[in-house]
Amino acid sequence: MFKDKKVFVLGMGKSGCSVAKLLATDNHVLITDVKCDDLDIIRELEDLGINVIITKNQGEIFDDSYDYVVKNPGVRLDHPVVLKAKEFNIPVITELEVAYRYLPEVKIVGITGSNGKTTTTIITYEFLKAAGLPVHLAGNIGYPLCSQLQDIQNGDILVVEISSHQLVNLDTFKVDIAVLTNLFPVHLDFFGTYEKYKLNKLRIFRNQSGLDVAILNKEDKAICELTHNLKAKKVYFSSKGQANIYIDKDAIVYEGEKVAEISDIRVKGIHNYENIMAAILVAKEFNVSNNVIKEVLNNFAGVEHRIEFVRKLNGREFYNDSKATNVDSTITALKSFSNEVVLILGGLDRGHSFEPLLPYLTHVKHIVCYGETKNRIKQFALDNNIDVTVTDNLEEATKVAYNISLEGDTILLSPACASWDQYKNFEDRGNEFKKIVSELS
Ligand code: ADP
Repeated sequence: MFKDKKVFVLGMGKSGCSVAKLLATDNHVLITDVKCDDLDIIRELEDLGINVIITKNQGEIFDDSYDYVVKNPGVRLDHPVVLKAKEFNIPVITELEVAYRYLPEVKIVGITGSNGKTTTTIITYEFLKAAGLPVHLAGNIGYPLCSQLQDIQNGDILVVEISSHQLVNLDTFKVDIAVLTNLFPVHLDFFGTYEKYKLNKLRIFRNQSGLDVAILNKEDKAICELTHNLKAKKVYFSSKGQANIYIDKDAIVYEGEKVAEISDIRVKGIHNYENIMAAILVAKEFNVSNNVIKEVLNNFAGVEHRIEFVRKLNGREFYNDSKATNVDSTITALKSFSNEVVLILGGLDRGHSFEPLLPYLTHVKHIVCYGETKNRIKQFALDNNIDVTVTDNLEEATKVAYNISLEGDTILLSPACASWDQYKNFEDRGNEFKKIVSELS
């Protein structure tokens, strides 16, 4: 708990505002950002006695009179306030660490990894909820823990998605069950090197004891190398060989016992089976039955905008993978289908190459492209003898894709580009796609 402390909150995102509100009752809080267009939020914070300062020169309003800096996870580690805090020996923490110190006796499941965090977090939450357990969803998934504290009671379970940025400034925070899905070289601009990024991910196991659990991907070499010294009990999932949970022919097998048939699972792709296996390992720590697991898997259609099944129309299946804002994610989606695919590509032009897609396009019968990258995609398709149609926008692209498709085909929006040339974000793009598809007849 924090009492009579002087706290400098850096960043007015969702988590910054919720931490400021929580601390305002018993502490002196200043919150700052370089800009904030929402006057209602500013007023709400000021009404709680919080000092709100919008400035580009945050370093200049920070001095050694503060007890803590609470940093937005996205703020860089070389930000002037962070550097000054280091010089003054003032602890820099994040919202998750603050929330942790206010929690009653709960069990925490912390889920991190380069990819699959949100999906694994949501499936885990669904398993525990369907089993009737008192569970809350929190963290990087859009629900800061600080804003949920009033609903959390002794004995509850928290399933918390934790990004690598959130891991950086954790101190006393401890998870009872840690999940590390996989490691890829991402966020290198923030962490400097892949080595530093990987070591930071190890912080999920920080403070764990032999009574705690670490759920790990046995097929991820980097994870296996990094985790040989953990104190926690290690439990493994594998999509290729044997492990505590693994895929045996057409079924998921946990400790020698069949949990679910692959045909029980609605979502597609080996990567999703990995996420599901990690989530089952968590569920098994809480003794969730196979029947409950099967029922959830039968109903779970995927997280919105991530290879999300939209609709079947005249024998064609439509999938929305608007979250695929880069080529790697589109490859993951392409690997999830074996039938013929009409692929919709395009969006913001970052100058990136589409060449890496090539080995995964064998079942793509036609590419329909739109957006800033449309002409570069057209050239890429022509160079590789793939049929292609250029359109002006997503609506036209979706209609063309439908007209080209035949019964049994999949129509997949997995654009391999960010959305910002025509949309506010990938969610807007995915929602528009779903609307267009729902209006097709
Ligand atoms: P995150 O929260 O880590 O960004 P998501 O669950 O939102 O991950 O999935 C985002 C994208 O990452 C998916 O659309 C898919 O392309 C890819 N992905 C998901 N799970 C995995 C996995 N286990 N391994 C590799 N890629 C994955």
